Amino acid sequence: MVTINELHRYGRTKLIMPGTSACPGCPLQLGMRYLAMALDARFAMVIPAGCSSVIPGAAPYTAFTVPVMHVPFASSPAVASGLRRALRIRGVDGPVVVWAGDGASADIGFASLSGSAYRNEDIIYILADNEAYMNTGIQASGTTPPKAWTTTSPRGKTEGRKDMSLIMIMHNVPYVATASIAYPMDFIDKVRRAASIRGFRFIHLHAPCPPGWKFPDNYTVRVARLAVETGMWILWEYNQGKLTISSPSVPYKDKGRRKPIEEYLKLQGRFSHLTKEDVEVIKANVDKQWDLIIRLTEIYR
Ligand code: SF4
Repeated sequence: MVTINELHRYGRTKLIMPGTSACPGCPLQLGMRYLAMALDARFAMVIPAGCSSVIPGAAPYTAFTVPVMHVPFASSPAVASGLRRALRIRGVDGPVVVWAGDGASADIGFASLSGSAYRNEDIIYILADNEAYMNTGIQASGTTPPKAWTTTSPRGKTEGRKDMSLIMIMHNVPYVATASIAYPMDFIDKVRRAASIRGFRFIHLHAPCPPGWKFPDNYTVRVARLAVETGMWILWEYNQGKLTISSPSVPYKDKGRRKPIEEYLKLQGRFSHLTKEDVEVIKANVDKQWDLIIRLTEIYR
């Protein structure tokens, strides 16, 4: 770790220095590294409350090598919008990136996110989704999947899941995509494509969390990859009116090529209480989601 005043001694090839307070196997650190590779670590970042505001350590130390504003839960899209406009007035170009969790995006900060998307603010918003409020004690969020254990859903979540990416398309923004920390090149390509466009851009990054999902900390990428291989998480891209399924997910349009969903579920303690009927419900939800996305590729083409 370095003090904030020592940052100038380091090159901009990395976003995050060694010595963070992230848990072993943290998906957010992986995602941030890929983000830095995509943008050559030249951007400003706005981070609301969540794991990512804890990871870099306490002031006067920081593990981040780019300018970061740590802001209250609900305000990151509004702050980023203002920052982008202020930078433009001062003649400074370069992306302003919001890096936010699911609680800040789907719940507490949703109004601010919706407002920024509606105004088509010139920012890149990355929802790094670990599917619960992890750093406050694994409480369910709007993107926690149905049936998953959390400390506020001890018998499994009874509500559905907000589909944040599709909600963002309905805001008529130019760019929306899903991504996974298990497919870095796909994520990096999408960040670069987003950076080449002006306006509000949204990337929904699937980020399995070892302590929150109750799997060993060396399984992070394995769990993330299985989410795609079983069809639980579909990689797609909506670019200025056209929606396409991304190449890692293309084989799984064919249901017969998907791995059994049980392979994904059995690695995670948060699903250890599921009955056979619960698993059937989850399978039906996956099929329904695939039908919807395939239909949307026909509508937005
Ligand atoms: S709780 Fe999960 S997302 Fe948060 S720092 Fe730990 S591994 Fe990363």
